Amino acid sequence: MSSIFAKIIAREIPADIVYEDELVLAFRDIAPQAPVHILLIPKREIATANDVTPADEAALGRLMLVAAKLAAIEGIAEDGYRLLINCNEHGGQEVFHLHMHLVGGRSLGPMLAK
Ligand code: 5GP
Repeated sequence: MSSIFAKIIAREIPADIVYEDELVLAFRDIAPQAPVHILLIPKREIATANDVTPADEAALGRLMLVAAKLAAIEGIAEDGYRLLINCNEHGGQEVFHLHMHLVGGRSLGPMLAK
């Protein structure tokens, strides 16, 4: 079953899209947790990090390249930022289309909430 992110790719629901190419899409999170909060997704629907296959290598490598590029464009590369991928219940995943969070623009504190 398709997630809300498939609808964003198809432009069926609006999103503040900041980057797109043939493999990936990036858009601002609807409920930002920091001054910069961008979601990067492969266009091919991969439900979770558990479902990654060798065919996804190019798209997932591209996510890293685009994340670094967007961090520079957003002006947070020098100070630093966090890249996160949540998986399933313990990871706190809410949308089952694999996505990388690019979060920054302030000091983010310890990596994990206690
Ligand atoms: P997860 O918890 O699955 O790692 O993160 C899902 C993220 O998607 C959350 O940060 C949430 O705010 C964001 N999100 C959920 N629905 C939408 C939406 O319709 N549009 C956008 N731009 N972000 C969304």
